[in-house]
Amino acid sequence: LEILVFANFDFEINQIAIRVLSGETIQMEERFVLNWSDYLAKLNAEGITVDTQSRQFFARYAASRPDREFFQDFKSFQTELRSILDTICETKTIPLETWQLIFREAAKTHPKIVAIPAVTREITESGLRELVFDRCVEAENYRAFLFRELLGVITVKNVFRIRKCPRCGKYFFDNSKNGRRVYCSAEFGGSRKAEEKESSEKHQTLDQTSFDFCR
Ligand SMILES: [Zn+2]
Repeated sequence: LEILVFANFDFEINQIAIRVLSGETIQMEERFVLNWSDYLAKLNAEGITVDTQSRQFFARYAASRPDREFFQDFKSFQTELRSILDTICETKTIPLETWQLIFREAAKTHPKIVAIPAVTREITESGLRELVFDRCVEAENYRAFLFRELLGVITVKNVFRIRKCPRCGKYFFDNSKNGRRVYCSAEFGGSRKAEEKESSEKHQTLDQTSFDFCR
């Protein structure tokens, strides 16, 4: 689940100096950047393919900025989301105001059906046969997008399978049959065979819960 990768990631705001041409002279200017490319690499490593067409907002996190404010707001959103997940994990309840927030934010997204490959001319009978359709979510910002994903986990009634590892503090999805997993996969004990089984079960569950997102 992308929301868990997001909650687990360590975002850093770094200060950099860039050269700016001002008239005839080159000046050094201070800028702020997020370790965004590391985050994209992490998403990729977790098997989440990012479709940039439906995520125009990603460009905002990749760009450098003259001040920290935007990135600080982004990090406060991560803190807010972590505290929502903490409550869900620890109390096994979704408070009413959280429930309402999730639905309100998710309503700011637009479900969309896209054709693959993109259609650029009239469609004939044989052309239609060759097309594949995919469901995808368009959002104004990452906040709405991730709340939409959380709503998806709620609607398939898997939300109380989200766990927080007591050893490393990472969030993970409990895909075990009995739903009693305590530690994250990195610390999952047992035989190698059990681990492999666990891992393939995980992928199946993830595919089901994120069915309406671009892969
Ligand atoms: Zn752990």
